[in-house]
Amino acid sequence: QQLIQDLQNTIQNIPDFPKPGIEFKDITPIFLNPKLYEEVITDLAKFSRGKVDAVCGIESRGYLFGIAIAVALDVPFILIRKKGKLPPPFVGQKYDLEYGSEEIEMRTGQLKPGQRILIHDDLLATGGTTEAAALLVQKQGGIVSQFSFLIGLKDLEGEKRLEKFNAEIHQLLM
Ligand code: 5GP
Repeated sequence: QQLIQDLQNTIQNIPDFPKPGIEFKDITPIFLNPKLYEEVITDLAKFSRGKVDAVCGIESRGYLFGIAIAVALDVPFILIRKKGKLPPPFVGQKYDLEYGSEEIEMRTGQLKPGQRILIHDDLLATGGTTEAAALLVQKQGGIVSQFSFLIGLKDLEGEKRLEKFNAEIHQLLM
């Protein structure tokens, strides 16, 4: 529909960034167009309305839309951060990268056991980051109910990696 087309015309594909052979999707032009940004939030909020008790956003581009989604839904927003940024107490989850490993963290006690959680990020690639976020949510007793992304990269099969959580997945642009 129109929104998909507007997004396709707005998001820029940058070749060979951050490494040769990688095509980077730059979403920053969306923020130059407040009307378009509002339409994106309306779409993402519609997917989750009445279905979640809180939104978890993944650092850092997951915050750009995640907070607005949470406000539109009138539910709490919880930050998932890269290691070392949050004051204690926090819980962490390690995950593997192509080379080495990474860790994400969440403040303890912000997510209440039994809450239905939307995990949001701007882009789904291999699904490694999102999978770790889902494991972190489960560690805190949360129910992983939904995933939403602005962009899903079809060829990287991130979706397959998230299947085990039995959650709804929404990718605005695929
Ligand atoms: P994954 O863990 O699914 O492989 O990678 C997804 C994470 O990497 C997301 O947090 C996303 O922000 C970031 N990412 C990877 N490639 C791109 C890209 O081309 N554009 C943007 N905006 N983010 C990317």
